[in-house]
Amino acid sequence: MDAADPLARLRGRFSLPPGLIYLDGNSLGARSNTATEAARRVVEEEWGRGLIRSWTQADWIDAPVRVGDALGRLIGAAEGQVLVTDSTTANIFKLLVAALNHQAPRGVVLLEGENFPADNYIAQGVEFALARGLELRVVPGAQLVDALDESVAVLLASHVNYRTGLSLDMARINRRAAEVGALTLWDLAHSAGLLDVRLDASGADMAVGCGYKYLNGGPGAPAFLYVAERHQAALRSPLFGWMGHARPFEFGADYEPAPGIRRFACGTPGVVGLAVLEDALEQLADVSPVDLQAKASKLTRTFIELVHSRCPDAGMTLLGPVEAAAGERGGHVTFTHPEGYGIVQALIAREVIPDFRSPEGVRFGFAPAYLRFVDLWEAVEHLRSVLAGREYADARYRERARVT
Ligand SMILES: *Cc1c(COP(=O)(O)O)cnc(C)c1O
Repeated sequence: MDAADPLARLRGRFSLPPGLIYLDGNSLGARSNTATEAARRVVEEEWGRGLIRSWTQADWIDAPVRVGDALGRLIGAAEGQVLVTDSTTANIFKLLVAALNHQAPRGVVLLEGENFPADNYIAQGVEFALARGLELRVVPGAQLVDALDESVAVLLASHVNYRTGLSLDMARINRRAAEVGALTLWDLAHSAGLLDVRLDASGADMAVGCGYKYLNGGPGAPAFLYVAERHQAALRSPLFGWMGHARPFEFGADYEPAPGIRRFACGTPGVVGLAVLEDALEQLADVSPVDLQAKASKLTRTFIELVHSRCPDAGMTLLGPVEAAAGERGGHVTFTHPEGYGIVQALIAREVIPDFRSPEGVRFGFAPAYLRFVDLWEAVEHLRSVLAGREYADARYRERARVT
């Protein structure tokens, strides 16, 4: 399978510690070979020598839009609609408020019950901040389409669920939302840089996502937001930041939003983080999202088959269906096991890195850019030994770390 893999050439662009099997690229992507050089160039040359001149000479000022356009290619967004800025969490806040103000008097926010908690926390925070009668309507992901009606102002959902790895039918939900006049806000944390996301073609209204997962921008990399061009003039960020002003360097007394996507910027961007993310996106510049999705699908399918064939009767239960077509599952799978936490720790001790998702989920992520099929085979052999030898029961694994 590795010999036949059209993306096998990408692995050499990333630095992974020898011998380590990294199954957590969905939480923190790997470092590119040139990431250090990208950071060094900014710190030593552009900052060190250029100092403040680099805002113009090194074009720092346009980086959020320039990197946004590069990222847009991976998520089916034409130029001028993606901005790299802030964190995913903060971007959800900005866009939810923008959408709610635009949609007033509608006040229903439709949410997915199994969504990543941060997203629904922010919806609760928006209710707190706006202090007007909102209704947070929470339904299972599978019922979102049917729950869309004329009372819904905005729907917030993850394209790929952080636990099950299953994806929602973005085009179908966008279609239904358009029929009832609701706006959609998609969280692409687990699909950007992985699935063939087609924001423009599927009629999405807004989206956000992380720079540090499958996009490999490094820990705490700047996040991104997308606003379809047709909505940009009507939507306003509640954070009237000077970097989102039409003419920030005129220092006028009153806020006036920039035309286009820049109006969703807030304060001064983190230039070092942007440079590292830009370098990471260059590693994927010659890659089609269709190929990434096809490989992700093969990786997840292969892993599930291996766990079932090599570790039968070991109590590992797959969350969600075994069968899923390409695009219906993202790049990770979760198995539950009562000893899930210990299993993750025992695997890490063997240099195999998945992650743990409470209460008993063992989550394995398969970044198609740098994982080989042989890694899956070896990881499952380690898993088999951990289960057969009850290594998870070791007393060292009783205490939970702060980050799992
Ligand atoms: C990872 C993740 C986030 C993280 O947001 P941050 O602001 O980067 O901490 C948000 N939503 C989902 C669905 C995620 O998977």
